[in-house]
Amino acid sequence: MILVTGGAGFIGSHTCVALAQAGQPFLIFDNFSNSRRSVLDRLAQITGAPVPCVEGDVRDEALLARVLADHAITGVIHFAAFKAVGESVAQPLRYYDNNVAGTVALLRAMQAAGVRTLVFSSSATVYGDPASLPVREDFPTSATNPYGWSKLMMEQVLADVDASEPGQWRIARLRYFNPVGAHASGLIGEDPQDVPNNLAPYVAQVVAGWREALSVYGNDYPTSDGTGVRDYIHVCDLAEGHVAALRYLRAHPGLLTVNLGTGRPVSVLEMVRGFERASGRPVPYRIAPRRPGDVAACWADPSLAERLLGWRASRDLDSICTDAWRWQDGVARSLRG
Ligand code: NAD
Ligand code: UDP
Repeated sequence: MILVTGGAGFIGSHTCVALAQAGQPFLIFDNFSNSRRSVLDRLAQITGAPVPCVEGDVRDEALLARVLADHAITGVIHFAAFKAVGESVAQPLRYYDNNVAGTVALLRAMQAAGVRTLVFSSSATVYGDPASLPVREDFPTSATNPYGWSKLMMEQVLADVDASEPGQWRIARLRYFNPVGAHASGLIGEDPQDVPNNLAPYVAQVVAGWREALSVYGNDYPTSDGTGVRDYIHVCDLAEGHVAALRYLRAHPGLLTVNLGTGRPVSVLEMVRGFERASGRPVPYRIAPRRPGDVAACWADPSLAERLLGWRASRDLDSICTDAWRWQDGVARSLRG
């Protein structure tokens, strides 16, 4: 049984579907600080079986110890964390506590229980402003905000834990590029509680008429059309990457670090056009100043993941936008009443 911390969240819920598809039993562990309990029913609808869940906080080591033992957990996929960059600048202690202390508590509980297989959610944010593109795993890492530092710190903690008991741990540090889209059923997707910071959910809300227009942060970058360029990966592709990482770890002890991206650069305006095609509606936008801290462009070299995991992203920009729009137009709207 695989424990999925943060399994009710955006990436975690899609990974649960991928685990179910792979025939891998799992147990969600989530405190619902950034998700809804109704995700469990919608996951059950997709997978055709009840979805087991323990409500709890990863900083609660005693509870984790009980869960690891009671459910014969053999590995953990660890999504539980806070993820808003701006909020991390305003509330660094809250972020370090939840993300770093939460991961340390989880690792302590795992070590005590003899569970030493872990798939960890890292981020392309650890590459900062890359000197060249596409980004490879051996590029230097850096951070410019507490969220990014929390990811780098957790990566370091994992490397140190692996080194302290050589050959005992099986750890994957997965560096996600920009996860977007939603499950094709339209039943699960990204459900930001506040004004979205990220491009895709913001555009989806503009298309839905919840917001007037998109602010395009800068059109004077040295990119194809002057707008920022990213590597947007369909969340279902990303989810399948976790199943592939678990499979890899079964055969390979040690520490794995891989990019999960598509290798496909997409500009802000290309994303806008994608949503226009998917919805058949125009996306009003205005050009705004650059957003502080943004890099011009970042996209992955995904070849290591393909070579080691036998995994590659297969869904294109149109399916990303179509699936995101189906979710936005259906359940996301009904959740807001
Ligand atoms: P999310 O907020 O949708 O999901 C996180 C889940 O963890 C939520 O269900 C939340 O309730 C839960 N959680 C948070 N703190 C917890 C705690 N202390 N104990 C138990 N549960 C807790 O976020 P997501 O987009 O699914 O991201 C998942 C992971 O991937 C995070 O670690 C995030 O930093 C990382 N990541 C996300 C992105 C992205 O753009 N979404 C990019 C790179 C990395
Ligand atoms: N972006 C934008 N308007 C928005 C949100 C984002 O123009 O309302 C741009 C942003 O400047 C960047 C790209 O979209 O070039 C992706 O931003 P996002 O926050 O989704 O991802 P990140 O910057 O964290 O990679």
